Amino acid sequence: MMCELCEKTELIEVKERYLYLESGLPNVTLEGIILRKCPECGNVMPMIPSLSKLHLAIARNLVKKDGRLTAQEIVFLRKCLGWSGVDFAHNMHSTSSQVSKWESGKVEMSTQAELLLREMVARGKKIEDYHSHEVSKRKRIKSPPLLFLLEQSEWKAAA
Ligand SMILES: [Zn+2]
Repeated sequence: MMCELCEKTELIEVKERYLYLESGLPNVTLEGIILRKCPECGNVMPMIPSLSKLHLAIARNLVKKDGRLTAQEIVFLRKCLGWSGVDFAHNMHSTSSQVSKWESGKVEMSTQAELLLREMVARGKKIEDYHSHEVSKRKRIKSPPLLFLLEQSEWKAAA
C-alpha cells in the first residue's frame, strides 16, 4: 500500500502503542493495534478494529472517573450518546449556549448536570429512548397503587 501523503514509498506495518488523539482526548493510548507507517514522510495510519466498542470502553471508564470531567471528556461522552449539541441541551434541560460553554471549558458543569450526563452514559441512553425533556410537560398526578410480589426471594412489581 502506497503512502497517500508523499506517494514515495510503501507503508510498513508495525505493532506499536498509539496515542489516540482523534478521540478528542489527550490521554488515550491504544496498545495491540497495527499502525501503517511511511518510512519516508512519517505518515501514520492506525488500524483500529471495533471502533464503537473502543469508544464504549473509553466512555465507561470516564463515567467512573474520580475527578470532574474535563471539557474534552464532556464532548466525547456527548458524541458517544449520539447527540448533537442541540440534543444535548434538550436532554440536559439546558440551552445550546450553556452546552457550548461546558464544551469549551468556559464554564464548569454543575455537579448535578455532570452526574446526569454520567448516568445517561452508564445506562447507554440514546436520543430515541430518552425522554427526560418531556418530564417538564408532565402533570403532577396521584401515584397509582403499586403491588410488589415476593417470588423465589426476588421482589417483582405486579403489572
Ligand atoms: Zn509518506
